[in-house]
Amino acid sequence: MSIELNQCCYRNNHLDRSWDIDVYIAQGGYEVWKRVLAGELSPQEIIDEVKTSNLRGRGGAGFPTGLKWSFMNRHAPGPKYLLCNSDESEPGTFKDRDIMRYNPHQLIEGMMIAGYVIGANAGYNYIRGEFWEPYKRFTGAVEQARAAGLLGENILGSGHSFDLHTHLGAGAYICGEETALIESIEGKKGQPRFKPPFPASYGLYGKPTTINNTETLASIPMILAKGGEWFRDIGVANAGGTKLFSMSGHINKPGNYEIPMGTPFKDLLAEAGGMWKGRQLKAVIPGGSSTAVLPAENALAMTMDYDSIAKAGSFLGAGSVIIMDDHTDMVKALERLTWFYYDESCGQCTPCREGTGWMYRMVHRIVQGKGRPEDIETLKDVSGKIMGRVICGLGDAAAIPVASFLKHYEHEFHHYIDHGCSIFDRA
Ligand code: NAD
Ligand code: SF4
Repeated sequence: MSIELNQCCYRNNHLDRSWDIDVYIAQGGYEVWKRVLAGELSPQEIIDEVKTSNLRGRGGAGFPTGLKWSFMNRHAPGPKYLLCNSDESEPGTFKDRDIMRYNPHQLIEGMMIAGYVIGANAGYNYIRGEFWEPYKRFTGAVEQARAAGLLGENILGSGHSFDLHTHLGAGAYICGEETALIESIEGKKGQPRFKPPFPASYGLYGKPTTINNTETLASIPMILAKGGEWFRDIGVANAGGTKLFSMSGHINKPGNYEIPMGTPFKDLLAEAGGMWKGRQLKAVIPGGSSTAVLPAENALAMTMDYDSIAKAGSFLGAGSVIIMDDHTDMVKALERLTWFYYDESCGQCTPCREGTGWMYRMVHRIVQGKGRPEDIETLKDVSGKIMGRVICGLGDAAAIPVASFLKHYEHEFHHYIDHGCSIFDRA
């Protein structure tokens, strides 16, 4: 089945110098912003349209965007802030960087509109430290928008002021967690805060703050230009619109694909060129490394939306699809993931600080051929005791791969422990 690609966030990516303001304006860019400034769309009308669109947060949690915006009291006295989370760092994610590289003005327009809705006069885009090229493109685009009078004081004589700032991270995965990101902008060590209070009531500098993912905000101008129903109807019930999927692993055409929510996984796999080297599909991580691994049969039966992936046994997450072929050693794959979370834990909570290291050391020992029979039960026990007992999602994110790899591929761990080598070393 052919899929209609690139209807929203990547709609301009094929154009020559698509990051340039003139190219964006020629495609109808900033028209919605001008309508907003002219008073043609009230904050409540915008929230209603976004609710109609069924847009859910694209960073991974899938929280309804219109509902999140409605938590903010735009008339409350004092500063309010709009933050964009462009710190995508989850293994498997690489979609947001291409919005900043190829369509930065659509993100800027989405941020301006979101800021207007929540009553903020300042917005920050927190960009992952390694994203040097996207950072340069985005800051260049902000300068262009400011020079065009679309940002700043009393924009186009409307009486409304809004400005944007960029903040380049310093390479810590944990700063993508929204409250750690806030701490980091404040100049502190990037460690998550307890929630509640949520940022909507106590955010940047203790002020009401809305924080949305890059893809979420970049979707807004098109939703308002074409209508919430247009976006909703592209997708399926409970998941409106298009979604960016980052396809990586053992496929012929790795890359980003913007497709309608609810597209069959099989069709997405075919669009990405199918399995490489004529091999068979073994397993899929559908939403980034913190989402449970699925065996091929579960993945082949699912469609790419929240409910169907949950029914298959995992999460849509940030839409970062990692494809593994039948030559994949699942114990080594898990060893790599456990190292990542061990390395990135901020160390605040004992179960995460100690548990991530403990899990890594056990899986590493198994790969080294020195596994102990009791290691598998201990791995299950430790991962189970991290989940739900920590401050932020990183602890759960570390535990989920361990639990799901053992659920579906325990025999591969047993083979290592019993024979000192992988199932592929049998001969
Ligand atoms: P969460 O469910 O705690 O919160 C989601 C959002 O809704 C947050 O902005 C939160 O402030 C808001 N919210 C939730 N309940 C609220 C309430 N009662 N009142 C006000 N606001 C409320 O999820 P999270 O910890 O922010 O994110 C976890 C997700 O992040 C995971 O599912 C994972 O897939 C994803 N993730 C993505 C990356 C990446 O690189 N894109 C990296 C790590 C994790
Ligand atoms: Fe830090 Fe891990 Fe606790 Fe999150 S769960 S606050 S990363 S120690």
